[in-house]
Amino acid sequence: MSQSVVKSLLARGERISDTKVQLKYLSDYPGKSFDMALKESNDYPLKAGNIETLQINLGKMCNQVCEHCHVDAGPDRKEIMTRETMNACLKVIDEVGVKIVDLTGGAPEMNPDFEWLVKELSKRKVKVLVRSNLTIIVSNKKYHHLPLFFKENGVKVISSLPCYTEKNTDSQRGKGVFSRSIEALHLLNEVGYGKVGTEMELDLVYNPGGPSLPPDQLSLEKDYKQRLKEDFAIDFNHLLTITNLPISRFLESLLRSERYEEYMNKLVEAYNPAAVKGLMCLSTISVGWDGQLYDCDFNQMLELGVASPVKTINEFMGQEIQNRRIVTANHCFGCTAGSGSGCGGAIV
Ligand code: SF4
Ligand code: SF4
Repeated sequence: MSQSVVKSLLARGERISDTKVQLKYLSDYPGKSFDMALKESNDYPLKAGNIETLQINLGKMCNQVCEHCHVDAGPDRKEIMTRETMNACLKVIDEVGVKIVDLTGGAPEMNPDFEWLVKELSKRKVKVLVRSNLTIIVSNKKYHHLPLFFKENGVKVISSLPCYTEKNTDSQRGKGVFSRSIEALHLLNEVGYGKVGTEMELDLVYNPGGPSLPPDQLSLEKDYKQRLKEDFAIDFNHLLTITNLPISRFLESLLRSERYEEYMNKLVEAYNPAAVKGLMCLSTISVGWDGQLYDCDFNQMLELGVASPVKTINEFMGQEIQNRRIVTANHCFGCTAGSGSGCGGAIV
């Protein structure tokens, strides 16, 4: 698909969900490549170490359709992980000694086997993280018990809230999302999440509303804590700042506004070798809804599978998947810019 065809598609409000087209834009970026930057900082090639985190994508179905969603999730998506694939994940968790299991989606809670999987995980010695979009908790009666369910199963909750103001959050995540998120945060606080003296962790996630890098994580956390406490009596533990990667819906918005190159230049100029040592792909394996393996959630969305003879969770062999070369492309600049970025927030 030529760039002029893509331009006219975007002008008509259509999507470029074809990952080959997205990868072509990334490789056609005329500035420095990510591999060149790694070579200059003596970090090439990137090699994975021991697997500490298994990140599992339970499906692309979501009750929201956020503007910057890198999963391209929404209510009309049908991709969903089966219990059979979940069992293959549990087998790997038992055999490899994974420390953290990070459940994501879409809205992971919408998978019909979500609660079964969480209960199975809570029987094991792993830390369980659920990336909840908050609004799912108040979207329907059948999800109202989730705060208590999370508590009973020792789950850590990580939730996106791109701003402490209604206007900014709604413009990025949809009308009404802010007020429903606040409602859900109250329910989580009520059972003890985010409260001092409990071990029930509740972290919030910030990502910029446009083509800019996140501000300093600690200063922004201070602002969030003050504003959410004063305005809504809400408590939480930590704020994680995450950089928008130029893929999926965010790439489309950059191309539509003709700011793609400007944003890439910004990421490249802010390349920080210190962030490379803490990249999440060095210690994570990401499992797609269909059991395919990836170095991270972003590579998963670009359909860049692992560089290993082992391609799926069913074939998983610890030794073969550890020490693999990480598959990189120019979207990776989003993880090494400024303070660095990953699913756990800023790196340095
Ligand atoms: S809530 Fe998360 S998964 Fe759902 S559309 Fe928004 S960013 Fe995507
Ligand atoms: S996008 Fe994925 S593979 Fe690339 S640097 Fe970031 S975590 Fe690593």
